[in-house]
Amino acid sequence: MKCSKCDNEASIRIAYSNIILCASHFVEWLEQRIERTVEKYKMLEGTRKLGIAVSGGKDSTTLLHVMKKIADKKGIEIFGINIDLGIDQGKSYSSKSTEIAVKNFEMLNVNYRIVNIAKEYGFTIDEAKENIHRPVCSTCGLSKRYVMNWIALEEGIDTIATGHNVNDNAQFISMGYLTGDVENLSRLRNVAPAENGLVKKIKPLFLTYEKETLTYALIKRIPFIIDSCPNTFRVGGRTQDAVRRNLEEMEDKIPGYMLNLVENFERKIRPALEEKYLKKEEVSKCKICGMPTSKGRDICSFCAIRIKMKKIKSVT
Ligand code: SF4
Ligand code: ZN
Ligand code: ZN
Repeated sequence: MKCSKCDNEASIRIAYSNIILCASHFVEWLEQRIERTVEKYKMLEGTRKLGIAVSGGKDSTTLLHVMKKIADKKGIEIFGINIDLGIDQGKSYSSKSTEIAVKNFEMLNVNYRIVNIAKEYGFTIDEAKENIHRPVCSTCGLSKRYVMNWIALEEGIDTIATGHNVNDNAQFISMGYLTGDVENLSRLRNVAPAENGLVKKIKPLFLTYEKETLTYALIKRIPFIIDSCPNTFRVGGRTQDAVRRNLEEMEDKIPGYMLNLVENFERKIRPALEEKYLKKEEVSKCKICGMPTSKGRDICSFCAIRIKMKKIKSVT
């Protein structure tokens, strides 16, 4: 089959736009599409230094490469961030993730920082998983948010971009509908402004499909890790997997299904939920680290985990 824009052989079919594209036209099309999303949702308004969180997977590495181009045009500095979470489980997941992230930062010649949480905070996510009665992904997510915010303050970063794609968002929205968790849904913001001592966060790939970031990374020969985190299966169990499979089946039957679900949620549903359910949290400063914590709490949740892990490790 020929590309819709030239005589070259097509590499990918974009069913929801009814086009088929060759490798170079797909690269151009995706970059323009992401740039339009960034513009439409005013993601870089007021940004001077943009931190990109890179785990080494196809989404975050594609995000880094595309955002570097967009930021260069706008005179915005890019800063790479990778967190070595200490997830090993016989697969060396975190060390591979860091190695790949560094390769990408150096390829693009961007400044970067690697935070090894074992060295910096005295515990790994593998150790927390074994010792703390809390779902591992909740501890991990909390740690990532804390570290990213802390690096932002240290490095003068005013905006942080993460690689969540349309499939991730569609799954989150569907799970929220299924469980009726309106408060959680009201917090699903693709542009979260800086507030309460937290840096602004953006998701430039929120309208980009997983298949598109994968194709982009393969065409551009971007190094990325193929393995998923060994804890992935714990994220939501069978229901979450079934919801994701169901969304993919719906996408096959109705091209653009996930995109419409996510875009309509962003434009029409979330603002209504936000008005009714998004709580304006009052914050105070953690007595240990000085980072924001919920009002009425002396120490932040991350310091609480850190203290617990320190105690556990000192008696073992
Ligand atoms: Fe962390 Fe869970 Fe994601 Fe693994 S799957 S990186 S443990 S949040
Ligand atoms: Zn073409
Ligand atoms: Zn703290």
